[in-house]
Amino acid sequence: MLSNLLKVNQVSKIFFKMNHDSKNIMVILSSPSGAGKTTITKKIQQKYQSFKISVSHTTRKPRPNEIDGVDYHFVSHDEFKRFIKEDKFYEYAKIFDNYYGTLKESVDQTIKNNDIIFDIDWQGTQQLSKFKNLKLIKIYLIPPNKEILKQRLIKRNQDSPQEVERRFKAYDKDVQHWKDYDYIIINENLENCYKQIENIISLNKNNLSISSQITQ
Ligand code: 5GP
Repeated sequence: MLSNLLKVNQVSKIFFKMNHDSKNIMVILSSPSGAGKTTITKKIQQKYQSFKISVSHTTRKPRPNEIDGVDYHFVSHDEFKRFIKEDKFYEYAKIFDNYYGTLKESVDQTIKNNDIIFDIDWQGTQQLSKFKNLKLIKIYLIPPNKEILKQRLIKRNQDSPQEVERRFKAYDKDVQHWKDYDYIIINENLENCYKQIENIISLNKNNLSISSQITQ
């Protein structure tokens, strides 16, 4: 009896939180720079056909391996400012001197037929959380320690030594925002971390389908 009550309670809580008829979910993955989030995001999309990665707009210059329209939509500062003025973003933030943002139109279109995964920072997470109609599952990845983070930033060889130092220094401020998330995962081993995220996704997908059955 008690266990049944608990189940009903959990389901109604989840339904309340989701507050949306669609069965599709939105997963936010945030972390300090270099904690492994981009690799995991890509892995999820490869394995689950239903997931699309939200492609942000940014004023940052593309890295040599990045493709416009796939990794980011690379735009000028003027274009980005115009989007802000026209209220086109669900969220945007200034990070390491550049702007990054998520367009409302592309999220609203994609969520009709897909789940979405966002690789955004804590500022974007706070802004998205204000839209109560979005079914967000917020996950924060933390590297096991700062030294490993530094090694990863150097090893991935994507940024200048100055940029690596800058990203490393941002760690302390970034990590303070772990409390804004539903799940915190320490990324000691990429495979384990990925499995934990898969579990979170399947738990939330299952809960959603139960809650939609109950309300039908
Ligand atoms: P990077 O320059 O390494 O690609 O990204 C720097 C940071 O910007 C990462 O923490 C990434 O999650 C974040 N980021 C990427 N796109 C967005 C976005 O659209 N909004 C916000 N708020 N952060 C973003």
